[in-house]
Amino acid sequence: MDKIDVTKLTQMSNFEVAALFYKYALTNSRGLRAINVGRGNPNWINTQARFAFNRIVEFGMKESLQTINLDDGNLAGYTDQTGIAERFNQFLDGDNPVDAFLKQALAYTRDVMHINQDELVFEWVDGVIGNHYPEPSRSLVNVEKILNRYLEVNLYRGEHLSDKTKVFPTEGGTAAMVYLFNELKVSHILEAGDTIAINTPIFTPYLQIPELNEFKLQEFNVSSDESDDWQLVDHKFEELKDPNVKAFFVVNPTNPTSRAFSDHALDKLKEVVEANPNLVIITDDVYGTFVDDFKTIYSVVPHNTLLVYSFSKLYGATGQRIGLIAMHDDNIFDKLIEEMTAEDPVIREAFRKRYSYVTNKPHEMSFIDRTVADSRNIGLYHAAGLSTPQQITMALFSLTNLIYEGREDPYVTASKEIVSHRYKAFWESLGLVVKTTEENAEYYTVFSIYKLAESKYSKDFRAYLEQNCNHLAFEWRLAAEYGVVVMDGAGMGTKAGYLRISLANRPDKDYETVGGRISDLLASYYTEYLQSKAQ
Ligand SMILES: *Cc1c(COP(=O)(O)O)cnc(C)c1O
Repeated sequence: MDKIDVTKLTQMSNFEVAALFYKYALTNSRGLRAINVGRGNPNWINTQARFAFNRIVEFGMKESLQTINLDDGNLAGYTDQTGIAERFNQFLDGDNPVDAFLKQALAYTRDVMHINQDELVFEWVDGVIGNHYPEPSRSLVNVEKILNRYLEVNLYRGEHLSDKTKVFPTEGGTAAMVYLFNELKVSHILEAGDTIAINTPIFTPYLQIPELNEFKLQEFNVSSDESDDWQLVDHKFEELKDPNVKAFFVVNPTNPTSRAFSDHALDKLKEVVEANPNLVIITDDVYGTFVDDFKTIYSVVPHNTLLVYSFSKLYGATGQRIGLIAMHDDNIFDKLIEEMTAEDPVIREAFRKRYSYVTNKPHEMSFIDRTVADSRNIGLYHAAGLSTPQQITMALFSLTNLIYEGREDPYVTASKEIVSHRYKAFWESLGLVVKTTEENAEYYTVFSIYKLAESKYSKDFRAYLEQNCNHLAFEWRLAAEYGVVVMDGAGMGTKAGYLRISLANRPDKDYETVGGRISDLLASYYTEYLQSKAQ
């Protein structure tokens, strides 16, 4: 068996290392079936919203043919809003479960949200057909209301912010991050050399992007440890009170450690913002719905916080590219822009010139509207915004959940049960006691190979392993000999030796197999250790 040069791998992103290891896993020396538990992509999907989308397309084609019908129905016209809700209701067959869902969804938007039904159905029909540029470009009007409601019901734990929050639907959480990093730079809120804090361990891009030449931010890590159940301890929050700390980036619940901020941590963060009132917070809550009674940082310190959410994980929609940015109407970002504009003539002139292309009141353009305009480099503002079929898809995913408001959503419950079941299966297969807490999203789990060595064998073996086995070498052997690919935790800011297992992307039975193969590899290191002692 070849050796691999692990020092070279330490320079690469852990995502690229895992992709490389997967190639080794496919041709592993034992001829075992390759299992990749490195990626976070779920292996389940929501069907209801997808079926519903199709029904809206079918109805939309029928409607379109009412205005133009040429070439045997192959060429149709615009749809007509007048009376469209009534026609849609006629079209739907309440005995068909998908249509019954659509009827329920419409009733919810009418009775609970007081949305005009003709406007809504017209937006859906026109949206799924996709024959108009997104208008308004930031978000379709009713899509925004529905997304706001979804966020409030699922992430705010009783705080009412939906009517004071603006939403910008984006091409996944990925684009949300790219647009926000860009806008914080373009708006001079974060400048090269500024100090930013990162809640580590974290999804690797949050560590890598700020270091790039175009950002050159000074990062420091605010990290949690396994001994504290991956919660930040109190003195870590003190570091954030320093006004030189300009921003704090958080994934909550965390990735890779899968923990939601405890209520105590949320209180501490509130104190931080009182002490450092201009602190910029980005919270990426893509796993929020995997924790019971979750509460987002945005609902605690809304004026300072940019919220990122994605439908990728819960609804099995990574290929759709659907996520969003949400922010409060009254926020420090607009305040900081206003102050800079008043105080700095150079910035004032630069803002005036840049935004004069898209508005006659450039100095009044809000941070969120700037984000939309700058997402298309100003010049293409008129063609900005997320594709309308994607926007309607998000609204439909949201409604599958909202119709259960105040009750248990069986889809969300089933999704949580899937990962929870695998979580238990995995830890049991390592021969360890299954521990969990209410903050644990159980979407991923991390464990240390060195700690495992100690708990399964001895302190002395652990010391041997720490000295003689680089964690990447362990991960490489796991792939090349046992066909199992994991994600390296150190690349995300854990101590060396932590591996991240995604509980989302493989069938249940694979998790026992993975634990078994990890144990086998560890046993083989133990044999080497015994041999080395015998010499
Ligand atoms: C998966 C993930 C994303 C990416 O979301 P997309 O909507 O698929 O682009 C963003 N942030 C975190 C923390 C993630 O784990």
